[in-house]
Amino acid sequence: MIMKKKPTLRNCEECGKVFVDNTGNLTVCSKCYEKQREDEKIVIEYVREHPHSTIKKICKETGATFKLVSTMVQRGQFFANGGQVLYPCSRCRKPISHGLYCPECAALLNKAIRNSNEIAKSRERMKELSKELGTSKRTKGHRLHWMDVRDKNKDK
Ligand SMILES: [Zn+2]
Ligand SMILES: [Zn+2]
Repeated sequence: MIMKKKPTLRNCEECGKVFVDNTGNLTVCSKCYEKQREDEKIVIEYVREHPHSTIKKICKETGATFKLVSTMVQRGQFFANGGQVLYPCSRCRKPISHGLYCPECAALLNKAIRNSNEIAKSRERMKELSKELGTSKRTKGHRLHWMDVRDKNKDK
């Protein structure tokens, strides 16, 4: 049996209490870890509502530590933009300050929606067109042959 990493005793970076680290990469005790997850949720909510906040302001308003917020920025959960915090586009993760998508993605999505509308419309149009052709064929009783086309072109 392979021995797992020996549990080590550490001091929690947040509260300073001694805790047992079974994984070798914990920096805070389980209690502070839980609190950080809670704080993260609050911070994410806050940034969505106040995208142009600074890290300092977020800490002040949410009670989260500066370290937590800057770690979140480093992880790519937010973007620090000249001290201001933005959040990532839901599609490409580019920093944005409002909505769900950056302008490029929003334009792309709009285009996709328009295209699918247009496809539906053109299908509708094809149906009508084939109906028209069907009736005109019957009334005219004449089929256009490629020879006819060539002769017409020659006259020009
Ligand atoms: Zn702790
Ligand atoms: Zn985007």
